[in-house]
Amino acid sequence: MYDVIIIGGGVSGAAIAMYLSKYEISCCVLEKENDVATGTTRANSGIVHAGYDPEPDTLMARLNVRGNELTEEFCIKMGVPYNKCGSMVIAFNDKDEEHLRQLYERGIINGVRGMEILSREELLEREPNLDEGVTGALFAPSGAVVNPWRLCLAMCETAAENGVEFHLECPVTAIEKKPTSFIVAAGGKEFEGKYVINAAGLYADRIAEMAGAKDFEIYPSKGQYYLLDKTSSWLVNSVIFQCPTEKGKGVLVSPTADGNIIVGPNAESGNMRDDVSTTKEGLDFVAQEAAKTTKKINYRENIRSFAGLRANSDQKDFIIGESPLVRHFINVAGIKSPGLSSAIAIGEFLVDILGDCGLIMYPKQDWKYAKPQISFAELSNEEKAEICRKNPKYGNVICRCNTITEGEILDALNSNIKPRTLDGVKRRTGSGMGRCQGGFCGEKIHEILCKHYGLDPREVLWDKQTSYIVAEKVGEAR
Ligand SMILES: Cc1cc2nc3c(=O)[nH]c(=O)nc-3n(C[C@H](O)[C@H](O)[C@H](O)COP(=O)(O)OP(=O)(O)OC[C@H]3O[C@@H](n4cnc5c(N)ncnc54)[C@H](O)[C@@H]3O)c2cc1C
Repeated sequence: MYDVIIIGGGVSGAAIAMYLSKYEISCCVLEKENDVATGTTRANSGIVHAGYDPEPDTLMARLNVRGNELTEEFCIKMGVPYNKCGSMVIAFNDKDEEHLRQLYERGIINGVRGMEILSREELLEREPNLDEGVTGALFAPSGAVVNPWRLCLAMCETAAENGVEFHLECPVTAIEKKPTSFIVAAGGKEFEGKYVINAAGLYADRIAEMAGAKDFEIYPSKGQYYLLDKTSSWLVNSVIFQCPTEKGKGVLVSPTADGNIIVGPNAESGNMRDDVSTTKEGLDFVAQEAAKTTKKINYRENIRSFAGLRANSDQKDFIIGESPLVRHFINVAGIKSPGLSSAIAIGEFLVDILGDCGLIMYPKQDWKYAKPQISFAELSNEEKAEICRKNPKYGNVICRCNTITEGEILDALNSNIKPRTLDGVKRRTGSGMGRCQGGFCGEKIHEILCKHYGLDPREVLWDKQTSYIVAEKVGEAR
C-alpha cells in the first residue's frame, strides 16, 4: 500500500512527487501516456509569469509569485533551460495604459518586485522592433521563460531518484473508496493508497467522478502557435504581451528558453481533450493579432506550428485541496495558466495540505537532486575536450542543428525515467528541435533506440502509443 498515489505526470504531478519525495513516505505516479510531460505541460507558452495578472487573494496569485521564485532557483540548480528575460505588457492607447496601471497595482498587492511603467521611448529603446503604435508598457523583470517539459522531467527525475515510483502507460479507469484507503485500477493493475492526488489535467473532472468527488467541470480551450527558427531571435528581447482580456492573456511574441521565437496562442473552446491539431483559421488569427505587436515577423522562418489545450474549469481559481465530498481525495485541478509558473509552489503547498489531512511525514536525511543533464553545446572547449577523452560518445554529434551528441542521448536513455520514443529523446536532449525538426537526426536516434533497448525497428514509436515509424522491413514487404 502506498501512502500517496498521484494521478498525472504533468508539471503539477511532477512537482508534488518531488516535494513528497523529501519525506519518509511511499508514493507513486500513475500516468496514462508512455512518458511524463505529454499533456498540457508539453505545449504552452513556457512563460514563468511574474504574478501581476491573477486577482489578489487567490491561490493563483499566491502560488504564481512563490512559483516564480522557486522556478528560478530550481532551473539554475538543475540546468533546465531558463531565461529571466523579463516580460512586458504593451499599450496602444489611453484605455490600455489605464489597464497597465491596474496591473501594476495588482502586482504590488500580489508581491511582484521591481515592476516599472515604461514610456513609449523607454519601451522602444528596449524593444526596437515593436509596432510604431505602442504608447508604453508595464515591465516586470521577474518574468522569465522556461523549457516546460525539461522543468517537468527534472522534477520527475528528482522524485524518482528519491524513491517515487513512476508507472507509465497506466490510465486510471476506476477508483474505489475503502474505509481507510483507495483502490485505483490503472493499466490492468490495482494500486492501493491512503491518499489520492488528482493532478490529471484535462481529465481531472473524470478522475474526480470515478472517486465520487466530482464538484467541478473541465472546459478545454485550445491555443495554437508558430515556432520560429533561432534566426528570428533578434525580434524581441523579452516576453511581449498585449493587454489581457476576459478571454486570456492574448497573443504574445516571446523568446523561448531554447532561443527560438514563439508567436501565439489563440483561444478556441470545444470539447477536445486530446485534439492538438492546428488549423489555417487558428494560425491566421494568431498572425493577424501578432501583427499589432510587430510587423516584422517573417513566417517563412516558422519551423513548427503546434497547439496546446488549457484545462479551464467552471471556477475562477485553481482547485487545490481535499475534496469536500471524499476524505483523503485531493484535487489539483483547473490548473490553467499560470499553472506552469506555479507548479513548484503547488508541490510545496501539497505538503501542507497532506499534513493538515493527517498524513505524518518525517523529512528524509539523504534526499538529493537528480544529476543535472550535461549539455555538450554549452561546455567550454576545454570541457568538451575533457568529456570526449573520458567518453568518445560525446564526440559524436547526432543532431547537427542543436549540437546534441550520442553521449547526451545515451545519458537520457539511462536516466531514471527512460524515454522509449523519438519525441521522448527530443524532450530530454533537444535533438530534433532545430531547423530540420529531426529530418537528419531522426533516423540515427531511431537506430540508437533500437540498439540500446534491443528493439526491432518496427517497435520504435515517434511519440504516443501507435505512432509507429517503420511499417515493414524491405524484403518482407508483401
Ligand atoms: C496554450 C497554453 C498556454 C499556456 N501558457 C502558459 C504559460 O506561459 N505559463 C504558465 O504558467 N502556464 C501556461 N499554461 C498553463 C500550463 O501549461 C498548465 O497549467 C500546466 O501545464 C498544467 O500541468 P498539469 O500537470 O496540471 O496538467 P498536464 O500537463 O495536462 O498533466 C496531466 C497529466 O495527467 C495525465 N492523465 C490524464 N488522465 C489520466 C488518467 N486517466 N490516468 C492517468 N493519467 C492521466 C495526462 O496524460 C497528463 O500527463 C498554458 C496552457 C496552454 C494550453
